[in-house]
Amino acid sequence: MRSTFLSLFAVSAAFAQTPDQRFERLMRDILIVDTHIDTPWHMVDEAYSLGEEHKYYEADIPRLRKGHAGAIFFGVAVQPQDFPPQLWIPRALELIDVVHQQASQFSKDIELARTSADIERIRKAGKIAVLLSLEGGHIIQDSIAVLRDYYRLGIRYMTLAHFRTNNWADSGTDAAVHNGLSNYGKDIVREMNRLGMMVDISHVSDKTFFDALAVTKSPVIASHSDVRAVTGIPRNMTDDMLKALTRNGGAIFINFNAPYVNLKANEVFAPNRDKRDKEIADMMALNQGNPRRWEMKRAIQQRYRSLLPPVDIKDVLRHIDHAVKVAGADHVGIGSDYDGISGMAPAGLEDVSKYPAIVRGLIGMGYSDGDIRKVMGLNLMRIMRANEERAEK
Ligand SMILES: [Zn+2]
Repeated sequence: MRSTFLSLFAVSAAFAQTPDQRFERLMRDILIVDTHIDTPWHMVDEAYSLGEEHKYYEADIPRLRKGHAGAIFFGVAVQPQDFPPQLWIPRALELIDVVHQQASQFSKDIELARTSADIERIRKAGKIAVLLSLEGGHIIQDSIAVLRDYYRLGIRYMTLAHFRTNNWADSGTDAAVHNGLSNYGKDIVREMNRLGMMVDISHVSDKTFFDALAVTKSPVIASHSDVRAVTGIPRNMTDDMLKALTRNGGAIFINFNAPYVNLKANEVFAPNRDKRDKEIADMMALNQGNPRRWEMKRAIQQRYRSLLPPVDIKDVLRHIDHAVKVAGADHVGIGSDYDGISGMAPAGLEDVSKYPAIVRGLIGMGYSDGDIRKVMGLNLMRIMRANEERAEK
């Protein structure tokens, strides 16, 4: 009798793992996917090399390796305040090219992926899958033919509108002129479905979001967004939007940007944003050709960053947890927005080497291994596969 009890005890003790043991086991094979990283502009403007480890910015191969990254989506962003319309396409092509170039240059560590099957194959080969995305529908210059060309170059999702409203989609941070998505915007969504390019509804107005959901046949993503119930700003998503995402089969990928995840930080950031951007623009205009201008730009960003109250990984976990409670663990992931947040990453999530801290955080919050795997990467894989399956070959 006694020996039976002891052996039962031994068996159950083997299954009851400590949080550290769970963490070690998960980290052995978990797929980590980050749906939004903006490094390509640094690669073009500053010859920033993914191959070496940097003490500034937030992504490079050595730090991606430390962070156990499996797949990342690089954003191709061309902001109208920085480039006149005739340079939107050439600039986007340069940003796409630099990712292709560095993927060949560092082919031992990274490879450009075009499909979910590519991601799996690249991962099995021990490398990091790199994917491309287009941030802002204005960059197709209202041409569905150009949209198809971007797809051929590897673009696998497009954010319908960026900070500004474009000719067919209202942004969440600009004037509403189309009452959401125009009829042409709806045609663009249909063409994206047909191609198998995921529709990204981060940055768009609430009405554009609901219009896109009414048209799309495939699940959509919010590639880098947070939740309004935790930080009440228009850039973040309401609970109603999260529930609609669940019905659509899509997911929200949580943004790490300090002013989006913490309201106090936003209250300090919002009134200073224009001042900071003007200071940077003036400094850049005065220092054209000065190789130190990027360092000077980072110094200005850091000065404004230092005005913010403390923001840390717990703020990000709070957004993940709220989204999971409202939308379900099948509909949440991570989209850090690293290198697109002007250095405003929270403490504990300073750069791409810190993804494992989220795994630890989710273990601490009582998440099952299965749910952690979904949030860290499998949800994106499911959505990408669904978009591929529904595409017209
Ligand atoms: Zn963005």
